[in-house]
Amino acid sequence: MCQKAIYPGSFDPVTFGHIDLIKRALTIFSEVIVAVAHNPNKHPTFSVKERVEMLKKATKGMEGVEVVDFGCLVVDFARKNKVNVIIRGLRMISDFEYEFQMALTNRRLAEDIETIFLMPSEKYSFLSSKLLKEAAGLGADLSSFVPDFVAQKIRQRLKQKK
Ligand code: ADP
Repeated sequence: MCQKAIYPGSFDPVTFGHIDLIKRALTIFSEVIVAVAHNPNKHPTFSVKERVEMLKKATKGMEGVEVVDFGCLVVDFARKNKVNVIIRGLRMISDFEYEFQMALTNRRLAEDIETIFLMPSEKYSFLSSKLLKEAAGLGADLSSFVPDFVAQKIRQRLKQKK
């Protein structure tokens, strides 16, 4: 088993795709720090506190997982935690361009930190937090996308917005 890795993202909210990736990362790394970005410019649906709480609940009982939030550059956060591996997910070719750009930017900022990409199970390869919130707004059944408690939170939030 290797050391620690950081899995950063918005997680707005956590989906089965994110959970699938965390489980895969745990087969390679003994510790995975799931780092929830504040990302105010992305206007998240859920506060950082809510996103952390949902992730903690969704990963409860998974040994080696820590969920924290961060409001700085991911490479600075990695250095602060003495971690030199960043994990990101690749679902489709459409993710590639953005992820490639970000990985190379991070490499320019911190040569000593590597980004590693993991692919989810095919059944989650189309799943995104953004799309599922849109589907929820149109009354879709969310049970195959997110844990039940997350589906409830999404419905509550949509009601509050109406
Ligand atoms: P960000 O705003 O940083 O892209 P996301 O929460 O959307 O935050 O995604 C965090 C990471 O998880 C990204 O690398 C993304 O590609 C990956 N990811 C998101 N959804 C899935 C999924 N269904 N399967 C695998 N990886 C995913």
